[in-house]
Amino acid sequence: MLKKLFQSFRSPLRRFSPQRRTPEILTSRQHALPRAKLSRNAVNVVERLQQAGYEAYVVGGCVRDLLLEMTPKDFDVATSATPEQVRAEFRNARVIGRRFKLVHVHFGREIIEVATFRAQHLEEEDDAQHGARNESGRILRDNVYGSLEDDAQRRDFTINALYYDPSSERILDHTHGVHDIRNRLIRLIGDPELRYQEDPVRMLRAVRFAAKLDFEIERYSAEPIRRLAPLLRDIPSARLFDEVIKLFLGGRAERTFELLLEYDLFAPLFPASAAALAEDPDYAGDLIRQALINTDERIHQGKPVTPAFLFAALLWPALPARVKLLQDRGMPPIPAMHEAAHDIVWEQCQRTAIPKRFSIPMREIWDMQERLPRRHGRRADQLLESPRFRAGYDFLLLRESAGEETDGLGDWWTDYQEADEQGRRALIRSLSGKDDESSRKRRRGGRRKRPSGTGASAE
Ligand code: ATP
Ligand code: MG
Repeated sequence: MLKKLFQSFRSPLRRFSPQRRTPEILTSRQHALPRAKLSRNAVNVVERLQQAGYEAYVVGGCVRDLLLEMTPKDFDVATSATPEQVRAEFRNARVIGRRFKLVHVHFGREIIEVATFRAQHLEEEDDAQHGARNESGRILRDNVYGSLEDDAQRRDFTINALYYDPSSERILDHTHGVHDIRNRLIRLIGDPELRYQEDPVRMLRAVRFAAKLDFEIERYSAEPIRRLAPLLRDIPSARLFDEVIKLFLGGRAERTFELLLEYDLFAPLFPASAAALAEDPDYAGDLIRQALINTDERIHQGKPVTPAFLFAALLWPALPARVKLLQDRGMPPIPAMHEAAHDIVWEQCQRTAIPKRFSIPMREIWDMQERLPRRHGRRADQLLESPRFRAGYDFLLLRESAGEETDGLGDWWTDYQEADEQGRRALIRSLSGKDDESSRKRRRGGRRKRPSGTGASAE
């Protein structure tokens, strides 16, 4: 039955989704999404709104994820009721958003986000002109309420535009989204070029969903991306930071990175890292990939991950070239390293704002790379007690895994952490000839296998 239904849909090679007026309706016999799979609270919100005479559906990522037998992050509801009308129906509701209002209905720790049907949607943008577009076609402001049909058409991808009615257990599909889920395709609704121009972040979302769901980007939706990738430079840096977090902390960072490279989307996000990748693909590529593999693993193990470590790794390969540039201009190594680090972070913030709560620990992770080789006297114990030790040590291992020569520093610290008091003293004694002064002397004459970003820790 299901197969027959899917076969009746159009070919996956159709150019754009047609602007159809009546949605395809899938009854409960034609899909495998019983209402029991939904959050009870989301169902309650929809039913309450429907009882009050409004249209209401569960919509977006949660319907998509459930059809794919994945666990949705959260549940969104779309309705014909205005935010004020929604709020009037629930005691536990709060209107949020300055320009485009949404309602959050709170149920303990779960929040159901309720949005009024609208014709376009870009709450992240803020501009005084109503419905304005800039010269590259980007929508600067659009906050008009609309019909269910409008609401479906303004969404980004067909797979994100499915509306589920828990009362009838029917799915309303205006854009052949079910077909695309079945064929594992990311397809923009409407003309891809136009939709990317309206909101270039959709290019990042295409890649993110392709990685997350293991889908292909349909060819007409993929085709303009490389050409339009530079449009990302016009996106406010705070919004790009949020997107970068979703791209790299969603559990599929490594795959996402490959796709960003494939579609030329990495360079507009991380220009200095992209230049380092071009310069030394083996080292920079290994370091970034290994960091992303570790991040994915930690997420799958339920361990915490921090954007500070992620940014530290993504930007580290850009350091050596910058240090060298400053040294060539006559700056001594240590100030050159500090200035290079500062410049790289500052420049990155112009692209993807890095909030201070992440950029400060990120710099501390880098600074730790300078301090980890200095282990004499009480220094090792003091370092071990530093709140940034663990991240700094993990980062050191990451550098080593990418081929940086550190004279066994990672192993030494591994042993030191595991040793008892006596063992630790012995490890410190074993450093004779490796203290700061003598290693500095050795460095002058010695050769290194791999440049170190800090210029101080492994040179
Ligand atoms: P996730 O699992 O990452 O939360 P999601 O599909 O729920 O996936 P959200 O960013 O939470 O993604 O957005 C919710 C819905 O809003 C999307 O499913 C999509 O329909 C719509 N949407 C979000 N961003 C855009 C955009 N830039 N352009 C058009 N529609 C968008
Ligand atoms: Mg969502």
